[in-house]
Order: sequence, then C-alpha cells, then structure tokens
Amino acid sequence: MKKRGLLRRVSDYARKRSPWIVHMDCAGCNGCDIETFAVLSPRYDIERFGGLEKGNPRQADIQVVAGAISKKIRSRLIRIYEQMPEPKIVMAIGSCAITKGVFHDGYNICGPLDNIIPVDVYVPGCPPKPEAILDGLIKALELWRKK
Ligand code: SF4
Repeated sequence: MKKRGLLRRVSDYARKRSPWIVHMDCAGCNGCDIETFAVLSPRYDIERFGGLEKGNPRQADIQVVAGAISKKIRSRLIRIYEQMPEPKIVMAIGSCAITKGVFHDGYNICGPLDNIIPVDVYVPGCPPKPEAILDGLIKALELWRKK
C-alpha cells in the first residue's frame, strides 16, 4: 500500500511536468485543425511548455477539440473524454466547437461542445490564430497543474 502511494506520487510529479495532449478534429472545415497542428509542430512548439501530443486518450491529460460536433462523432468524443485519467482539461478550438459556427443549421450537428462534455478553455475564432491557440494551451496547462 505504501509502495503504491510512492508510485502515485512519482507518477503525479512526472505528469505535472509534462501533460500530454490528445487532439480531435470533428466535423468542421479543418481550418482549426490546420492551425492547431501548427501549434503542436516545431514552429510554435508547445513542447517548450511541457506539452506533447499523444494519440492515446488513456495517456492524455488535455483534450483539444476542433470543428463542429456531428451526431456521428458525439459518442466517440464522449468515449475519448471518459478514457482520459483525472485530472483532465478540455479545450474548445474555434467557433464551430464553441457555438456550432457556420454549421449551426446543419441537420447532423449536435454541438456546441460544452453541451456534450465539460469545457475548461475556449479559444474563439474562425479559425483562431496559432498564437491564440498557443495562449489557450498555456492556460490549459496552468489550469491542469492546479487541478
Ligand atoms: S471555426 Fe471556422 S475554421 Fe474552424 S472548423 Fe469551423 S469553419 Fe473551419
């Protein structure tokens, strides 16, 4: 029992230093996705703040969601959110994820994102600039470290 407590403390320390990010593009035009990739790549380099993109939600701490939420992607979005360990942060990138944006009348759109899963950080824009996304990610990292 004591050993598990030590392992947990070591794991918490390591996670605090390097939160991992899982990125999901839903049903938008991919504009937000392209800007998000710029932030995750060496040009804007989120790794200098400790963040790292990971494909596996079970190892991720921050979920980044871009694009409008379609009825088809809804259950996958929830599953990915539920697979992430606590504490976790959700970021909504762009007008589509935040308000349904230009797809607000779409027959297959069921967003906004915060009607489906709890959102901690909002980055508005269509698409938001990489600097705004980077700023949002830094806020997400700070928020996650406090949780
Ligand atoms: S917010 Fe604008 S740029 Fe982003 S996915 Fe929607 S339409 Fe595309």
